[in-house]
Amino acid sequence: MKPAPFLYHRPANLADALSLLRAHGSAAKPLAGGQSLGPMLNMRLARPGHLVDLNDLIELDSVRVTDSFVEIGALTRHHRLANAPEVRRSLPLLSAAAATIGHYAIRQRGTIGGSLAHADPAAQLPLIAVTLGASLVIAGPEGTREVAASDFLQSIMTVDLRDGELITALRFPLPVGGLWAFEYFSRRHGDFALVSVALSFARDEEGKIDALRIGLGGVETVPLRLPEIEARMQGRPADETTIRDLAAAVAATIAPEDSEQVPAVYRRELAETLVVRAFQSALNREEGA
Ligand SMILES: Cc1cc2nc3c(=O)[nH]c(=O)nc-3n(C[C@H](O)[C@H](O)[C@H](O)COP(=O)(O)OP(=O)(O)OC[C@H]3O[C@@H](n4cnc5c(N)ncnc54)[C@H](O)[C@@H]3O)c2cc1C
Repeated sequence: MKPAPFLYHRPANLADALSLLRAHGSAAKPLAGGQSLGPMLNMRLARPGHLVDLNDLIELDSVRVTDSFVEIGALTRHHRLANAPEVRRSLPLLSAAAATIGHYAIRQRGTIGGSLAHADPAAQLPLIAVTLGASLVIAGPEGTREVAASDFLQSIMTVDLRDGELITALRFPLPVGGLWAFEYFSRRHGDFALVSVALSFARDEEGKIDALRIGLGGVETVPLRLPEIEARMQGRPADETTIRDLAAAVAATIAPEDSEQVPAVYRRELAETLVVRAFQSALNREEGA
């Protein structure tokens, strides 16, 4: 199928993009990498009257590392997240997850802002944003606001974005724990994950678990972070018993989507297995470091 007719705009800077979005309100949609919007247009699931192409807004393709946060511009491509040394150094969990998105061509075009706005419950970048406590910087007719990723993502493809607004950046707080892992399972290489697990933690002076963060993608309508389980694991030794307890607690807490193709019980078992795998891979990486 071909898209329904629309007017194409290519603003040269953020101010022009915002004024176009403001002028056309709910009839306008921003276009970033086009990797999700393109298919939606072709299938006529989206029928915007105006398409505002962001690809000349090079000021939004940026990575800024400070002492207290990393700010990533909304137009930063998955490929850059996976490969840029400053991202790999400051947010290795984000880099590792970005490297697993789709195929090479998709990572070359897809952007972090587009992925968050699209809000697929199985997508990697919303999961990492929720797990690491990131916030979104959003510009619009009322000025600029900052909203936590966990509040921004409301349900499947439903986000806290109003007419005329644009995500300009994501802000990831620092520091993050030095141990981390991203594990996922998909049926074919390049497919969206059925379940994914993001893990980040540190060790205290006695080697015990500190500042654990655990997130799950693909199990419910939004990525989940599990703060109660994180708190229960604080101060425990990073050993086999703790890993098994953690995985069992996660499996008992989640309420996965149920479908004929992927029954809830299957997703639950996958989650449990992936938590064990993630923890072990974080520890293995530490040993190899
Ligand atoms: C075959 C295939 C496989 C894929 N596999 C995966 C995968 O395994 N994991 C994964 O996470 N993703 C996957 N994707 C999706 C990919 O990551 C997309 O790039 C991403 O979901 C959307 O980013 P985009 O920049 O392409 O956004 P677009 O497609 O351009 O836009 C998506 C939506 O976001 C809005 N938008 C874009 N930028 C902004 C902004 N700055 N502010 C406000 N709204 C904005 C658009 O209006 C639109 O509604 C896959 C895509 C394809 C085609």
